Amino acid sequence: MKCPYCGFVESRVTDSRDQGGVIHRRRRCERCFQRFSTVERVVLPELMVVKRDGRREPFNREKIHMGLRLACQKRPIPVGQLEALVEDLENELYKLGQAEIESRVIGELVMDRLRKLDDIAYIRFASVYRSYPDIQAMRQEMDRLLTGQQSTADGAGESPASAARGVQKSGKA
Ligand SMILES: [Zn+2]
Repeated sequence: MKCPYCGFVESRVTDSRDQGGVIHRRRRCERCFQRFSTVERVVLPELMVVKRDGRREPFNREKIHMGLRLACQKRPIPVGQLEALVEDLENELYKLGQAEIESRVIGELVMDRLRKLDDIAYIRFASVYRSYPDIQAMRQEMDRLLTGQQSTADGAGESPASAARGVQKSGKA
């Protein structure tokens, strides 16, 4: 770490504090004896989202938050619950330990959580996300919601894993 005053590369650490996982160090330049501080923290690896058309973009929690806020407009959902949902989603994504995640997977994870929170917000989010081809498809989704079944809206395009999950969940319905 270069001294900000004279550019010398060696400094002595005079104090070190850990504040919630962020480490602050007081340093003194070995040449000009000026004091300065450095901060060290863990940086999460960048998570890339693979979009439907194959393009990649960095995971953006604010984008998901925005989509949720729109879906939840005028619904009786405390703001804190949306924050918690996004936080929880982000943790789960990082726990998967993958560098890339399909946007489809993220969408499903969001909808899983939103469904438990609020039916109307879920349908709103799903209608944008899944872009139902017609009102009939949307009605089928609502029927599934009313009977408590797992959605299989993606139909033929579904992966074996999520199809299996669908079977599991509809089992309890
Ligand atoms: Zn210096």
